[in-house]
Amino acid sequence: MKPQAAQVPATQTILMVDDTPANLGMLAQVLEAHGYGVVVAQDGTEAIERAGFVQPDLILLDVMMPGLDGFATCRRLKHLERTRDIPIIFMTALGDGGDKLTGFEAGGVDYVTKPFQVDELLARVNTHLTLRAAQQQLERQNAQMQQEIALRQQAETRLRHAHDELERHSHKLERSNTELEQLAYVASHDLQEPLRMISSYLQLLEKRYKDQLGADAREFIDFAVDGAHRMQDLINDLLSYSRIGTRSKPFQPVDCNRLAATVLATLRLSIEEARASLVVDPLPTVSGDPSQLAQLLQNLLANALKFRGEAPPSIRLYAETDGDAWRFTISDNGIGIESDYFVRIFAMFQRLHSRTAYPGTGVGLAICKKIVERHGGRIWVDSTPGAGSSFHFTLPSLQGVAA
Ligand code: ADP
Repeated sequence: MKPQAAQVPATQTILMVDDTPANLGMLAQVLEAHGYGVVVAQDGTEAIERAGFVQPDLILLDVMMPGLDGFATCRRLKHLERTRDIPIIFMTALGDGGDKLTGFEAGGVDYVTKPFQVDELLARVNTHLTLRAAQQQLERQNAQMQQEIALRQQAETRLRHAHDELERHSHKLERSNTELEQLAYVASHDLQEPLRMISSYLQLLEKRYKDQLGADAREFIDFAVDGAHRMQDLINDLLSYSRIGTRSKPFQPVDCNRLAATVLATLRLSIEEARASLVVDPLPTVSGDPSQLAQLLQNLLANALKFRGEAPPSIRLYAETDGDAWRFTISDNGIGIESDYFVRIFAMFQRLHSRTAYPGTGVGLAICKKIVERHGGRIWVDSTPGAGSSFHFTLPSLQGVAA
């Protein structure tokens, strides 16, 4: 809030209280001539009534009055909520120090002595009006400040509540995610055994009764075995996916050069079969779970080999610094991806091709995303259909990474 200079309102009203009408008339003229509004009262009771009603900016109060004298009137005015803040200047003919003291004790702010020195009277009136205006302004500013503080406190309380609510929701979400992961894990784990039974008995059936079965029946058995294998692949992928959260190891320094070498060794046959050229630039050491990071690289490199175009695959793996993190890129010259699918392909079971064109379950990139996010990074793709894709992911650099 900006501090403002105290302003004296354009017209200020002064209540004059005197039992001598001649005094009132003379004084009223002087004050009105100087731009003040004047209200008069001729005794204490009338003064209290008018003051409450008119709310003057200042009261000039005669001390010696019949009935309620000036001091008693002042005390009552100071007692009343509506009038207690109005400055009161006593008018007295006595130069008595004792009386002045009584006046100050009653709540008066000043004295003027009759007969009046007009200049002195005006100077005192002006001083107290300015003081009162300044005081009122301070009170207004103070009230405004209190209001702002109250508003801020309200906003803070609302924010705290919203934050608590958000935290509750996120805990709930975390719990149901964990439950879901456990369910997926248990379900896929328990599905493995009956599935193995189905495919092995189907194979047994085929082996034992091959000669007695017709061509149709053999074909049906092949379809069934194929289905069982696919289901096995799906279950394995689902298990890998649900293991990322539940079976993770604490982070440790991981030399990505060694990691890439291991992954390339695993993919050696596919690389040879595709006659792919693979360039791996020098890579950094990062903090992470080595087996998950190996799985990440393997999924991305396997996709780069799988989604190849006519030309033999040309794949490059490199890393660059990106703020506090490392940005890894695996670029290929494969079939590419339409930009509409750049986000969707990282969700579970999202595939852009038929199984006959490119085999797969559509879980690989979902696994990659989960691994990267668990490591505090993000993953995305850039691609030009027909020209190739670049998969990027970030991993925090080694310094300052909590396991
Ligand atoms: P999958 O490989 O089992 O189909 P992913 O989750 O690994 O499943 O990939 C999802 C989809 O994203 C793929 O089916 C494919 O359409 C697309 N995709 C992934 N990697 C590439 C790539 N390097 N080039 C072109 N398309 C890709």
